[in-house]
Amino acid sequence: MIKKLAILATLGFILAFTACKNTGQKSDDGKMYVVATTTMVHDLVKNIGGDRIKSDGLMGPGVDPHLYRASESDVSKLSNAEIIFYNGLHLEGKLVDVFDKMNRLGKNIYPVADTVKEDHLIPSADYASSYDPHIWFDINLWKKAAHFIADKLSKHDPENREYYQSNLKNYISEMDSVQKQINSLIDQVPKDKRILITAHDAFNYFGQAFGFEVVGLQGISTASEAGVKDVQNLADMIVKNKIGAIFIESSVPRRNIEALQEAVKSRGFDVKIGGELYSDALGTPGTEEGTYTGMFLHNVKTIVKALK
Ligand SMILES: [Zn+2]
Repeated sequence: MIKKLAILATLGFILAFTACKNTGQKSDDGKMYVVATTTMVHDLVKNIGGDRIKSDGLMGPGVDPHLYRASESDVSKLSNAEIIFYNGLHLEGKLVDVFDKMNRLGKNIYPVADTVKEDHLIPSADYASSYDPHIWFDINLWKKAAHFIADKLSKHDPENREYYQSNLKNYISEMDSVQKQINSLIDQVPKDKRILITAHDAFNYFGQAFGFEVVGLQGISTASEAGVKDVQNLADMIVKNKIGAIFIESSVPRRNIEALQEAVKSRGFDVKIGGELYSDALGTPGTEEGTYTGMFLHNVKTIVKALK
C-alpha cells in the first residue's frame, strides 16, 4: 500500500511537472519517443517505427501483463512519451489508473485492440460484457494492429509516413510467410488430437484460427487462481480423451500445470509436459522467441511435436 501511495505521489508530481508539455518529447536526436506496454505491442512498434523512432517497452520477457503494476520509472517514461500504445481489453488490468491519468493529461494513448471490430472478438467466459484480450494469437487480427500502429505513427510524424508504410508492408509480408509455415506445420496434427491444454486461457484466438479445442487451467486472466476442482475436472478430461501433452507458459508459474500432471498420474494415466509456450510475453531479446513471428513459430513447433 505504501509503495502504491509512493507511486501515486510520484505520478502526481510528474504529471504536474509535465502538464505544460502534454504532447510528449522528442528525444535529443529529434526522434519521436514511443512507449509500449507488452513485449508483443513493443515488437510491432519496433518493426514499424524502425530507426526513425526511439521506443521503450515497459514489460520484459516472462512478465505477466495481467498482474503488472507500473513502477516509478514506467510512469516517467509514459509521461515523456509522445505516443503510448497498449494492448487494451483489460489485458493490463492493473494499469487502468495510470492510463486514465495519461488520458486526462491529453496524451496520445492508444489501445491497439481498438482496431478490431467487436464481431471478431471472442467474448470472455469469465467476465460479462468484456472480451478475451489475447488477440495477438490470431495473426489476421495482429495484422490489423500493425496497420493501426503504422497509421498512428504516420499521423503524429507525417514526415516519415512513407517509411512507416513501407515497413508495414514488409512486416505484413513476413507475417504472411510465417502464417503459411504455421499452416503446414499444423496440418501434421490429426484433427482429433487438436486439444491444447495450457496454464491459462490465452489461446482461444489461436484455437479459433487453427481448429484447436483450447482449455486453460486458469481463466482468461491469471488474476483468478485455479481451484482444486478445476484441476480435478481437467484431469478427468485428460484421462477420458487420452490427451498426450499439456503445456506450461513462460509468464505463468509452472506449479499449477505440474499439479495437473500429478492429478492425472493419480488416475493411472501419464500426460507429459509438452514444453513451454510463450503466451503473454515474448522470449529474451536476440533469441528466436524474442520476436512475435519467432515466438509464434516456436509455439506451433512445440505444440505440433508434442501432439502429432
Ligand atoms: Zn493472459
